[in-house]
Amino acid sequence: MSDLIKPNFIAGEWLAGPDAAPNVNPSDTRDVVGLYARASQAQARMAVAAAQAAQPLWAAQTPMQRSEALDRIGSELLTRRAELADLLAREEGKALGDASGEVLRAAHIFKFFAGEALRVGGELIGSTRPNMSVEICREPVGVVTVITPWNFPLAIPAWKIAPALAYGNAVVFKPAELVPGCAWALADIIAGAGLPAGTFNLVMGRGRELGEVLLEDPRVQAITFTGSESTGRKVALSAVGRSGPMAKFQLEMGGKNPLVVLDDADVDQAIACALNGAFYSTGQRCTASSRLIVTDGVHDRFVAGLIQAMEGLVVGDARAPDTVIGPVVDASQLEQDMRYIDLGLREGATLAYGGKAQKDWNGQPGFYLQPALFTDTTPSMTINREEIFGPVASVIRVSDADEALRVANDTPFGLSAGVVTQSLKHAARFKRDLQAGMVMVNAPTAGVDPHVPFGGRKGSSYGPREQGRYAAEFFTTVKTTYINP
Ligand code: ADP
Repeated sequence: MSDLIKPNFIAGEWLAGPDAAPNVNPSDTRDVVGLYARASQAQARMAVAAAQAAQPLWAAQTPMQRSEALDRIGSELLTRRAELADLLAREEGKALGDASGEVLRAAHIFKFFAGEALRVGGELIGSTRPNMSVEICREPVGVVTVITPWNFPLAIPAWKIAPALAYGNAVVFKPAELVPGCAWALADIIAGAGLPAGTFNLVMGRGRELGEVLLEDPRVQAITFTGSESTGRKVALSAVGRSGPMAKFQLEMGGKNPLVVLDDADVDQAIACALNGAFYSTGQRCTASSRLIVTDGVHDRFVAGLIQAMEGLVVGDARAPDTVIGPVVDASQLEQDMRYIDLGLREGATLAYGGKAQKDWNGQPGFYLQPALFTDTTPSMTINREEIFGPVASVIRVSDADEALRVANDTPFGLSAGVVTQSLKHAARFKRDLQAGMVMVNAPTAGVDPHVPFGGRKGSSYGPREQGRYAAEFFTTVKTTYINP
């Protein structure tokens, strides 16, 4: 095994794969972050077998032991925060400050679930039958497959792996092909936390190939997935269509999140929410505010102010100190963004700002894109219906709060939704009637806390919520015991 190739982690051993793939820096495509092994299907099966064997040992440890292991992982993430933020910015293109925030969030998630590991309890309830009592408790589900996307290479793995481990499950982790670096670093940290060998396994490589094993293997009891809607559907079909028992599954997919700005909004606040929600992290967040729904009275002031603020967004190398907006993650995502920008123009929207791709930054070849704002758009335009997943937002002009609410909910998605208003009446109504898993009042649609539920409705999500105490729904199974003394 070459030292240069970062291997998989299976059954407590670091194992090279049949081949390896280069991890390329989107801020400078000449820079290769490293070579990362790609696991074979046989290795994925080995990982599942190892997880199955280790899970009872891990579940048999005391809650305090599990808690301490998770706490060690959280502490190590904090100790290595600067190094990991640099790696994240380098391989994914997230601006360094945001990348550092993501490492902190991942650490907080492990610390939170270190606490939750100690709080797994149950209920004792009387029976309808005399002398009988009924106990209700939570048990681990078993072996969990974790499949993650590239846009939060540490936080999303953390919010799946930490609860899986906290509740006594074993994990096989398959990160996105574009970001094996953070996944490997996290595996390295978990490997040092003293879990029984096989409790946590990392298999890197191609989704479709490894998916055949990690979704279909009947020894996998649960699948937690974040990614595209089309892959989400495949996960669901595999989970129920495979031979043997069906797998429990949880899907987080796209969003087309509305930010409603009403006439009585504080315009500066609305601009700040839109700027952050739509463009930070290069718009590559499933909670990004891609539809800015603005009432007549404030429309022109809002658009003028937002364009002025966008002029201040410095696009550049993710690790350069002034950069606010890093590059798009890779060539195919940039191509997708440009295709939607072109489509918006062809459908009659006005490109009021930005939208130009830049082949380099200070001579560094990369996937740079100036954030784009469309105005004069209608709810039926493709750019307002499909998730673009880039720094592209559209303004939809509406006459009043009623129309704003209708347009906000007119989408197949339902992850996050925001309203900017100074009226308690409007805030209360939007909070109640927005069809989304998360509602933000005078706050960006993106940017969530690590200790409370995350998830959506309609086409955005399937299954129980992630994060916070609600994560127990997915990562445990309930047992009801009747005791006749
Ligand atoms: P994105 O557009 O965010 O890359 P994908 O849905 O393509 O979304 O990828 C999300 C994750 O799903 C990645 O880890 C990818 O490797 C994995 N994946 C892709 N195809 C499959 C599949 N057929 N089975 C299992 N996992 C898959």
